[in-house]
Amino acid sequence: MKYLEFENGDKMPALGLGTWKSAKGEVYAAVRSALEIGYRHFDCALLYGNEKEIGQAFADALKERIVKREELWITSKLWNNSHEKQYVLPSIQTSLADLQLDYLDLYLIHWPIALKHGVSFPQKGEEMLSLTEVPLSETWTEMIHLKEMGLARHIGVSNFSTKKITDIIEKTGVVPEVNQLELHPFLQQQGMLDFCQTKGIYLTGFCPLGSADRPANRIVEGEPKLFENQTIQELALAKGCTPAQVMLAWAVNRGTSVIPKSVHAHRLTENLAAADIELNAQEMKTMQGLDLHYRYIKGNFWCLPGSDYTLENLWDE
Ligand code: NAP
Repeated sequence: MKYLEFENGDKMPALGLGTWKSAKGEVYAAVRSALEIGYRHFDCALLYGNEKEIGQAFADALKERIVKREELWITSKLWNNSHEKQYVLPSIQTSLADLQLDYLDLYLIHWPIALKHGVSFPQKGEEMLSLTEVPLSETWTEMIHLKEMGLARHIGVSNFSTKKITDIIEKTGVVPEVNQLELHPFLQQQGMLDFCQTKGIYLTGFCPLGSADRPANRIVEGEPKLFENQTIQELALAKGCTPAQVMLAWAVNRGTSVIPKSVHAHRLTENLAAADIELNAQEMKTMQGLDLHYRYIKGNFWCLPGSDYTLENLWDE
């Protein structure tokens, strides 16, 4: 396993387990299998609605001495309805209680989008708050406090553009340690990676396999499918691995971390093994040629009439 090392010496395993859409009733078994197979990095979020069950899996594995807390890297995320300063601390406390933990290894602002407290997912613009009403720097300042309090050993953002990252750094002087965003061979975001490398920010890639189990209303007919890509298939054949392993190995070889989701033991094993597959310079170059700047998670569900949010000001591109 490769690791991404932080200034204080903490190490994030480059490949972790995603848990969005891992249903209640199956996520406990998935996390237990993952721990037994050797996963040590878990990506969670309050929004996923399954942190209690994941927390039980951690608690049982810790009690059975399958793993020690300090060997685990556990990430969670602040949901959009808790960006106002008074809601940030209670939010991490909820995640910590559900996950049965004293601290998180990483806490992220899930989206640069603010919702009124109590709104889980907005249906209309008036359920949202603009970034003028709740500036990202206000939320980021509270995240900094959480780190100072020891509730999160590291703090970062998710789905942030370079412009938004620059803005919170300018306003607070504190650089996020991680930006988690959609990254796969069809959305390589090289400019973001270059920018973050100059600032000492790590990238974690989500939807690394194309997120085929996304809600149906977020799937566009005729969208490009990573598993059907001929170059990826040929590379897998040539290397004696699977197409999924090519995508994940590409992410790790690029110096990012990656968090594929699965609830099936055979795929958990397949995906974890990808972290140890090397792609040579020529293979990386071949993969570089696949970029389409294609997003599976478009973010258009935030751009409701009557809100301030547009795709343009969400991605700043
Ligand atoms: P993903 O990991 O790209 O894809 C998950 C899908 O791929 C599932 O249908 C899974 O099925 C299948 N799969 C897994 N391994 C496979 C393999 N080896 N071969 C074939 N199919 C395989 O998508 P994702 O879950 O959307 O993204 C990963 C994680 O990133 C999430 O779970 C979440 O933790 C995080 N995320 C964060 C954000 C954010 O805004 N920060 C957004 C999206 C996702 P089975 O489960 O049935 O095996």
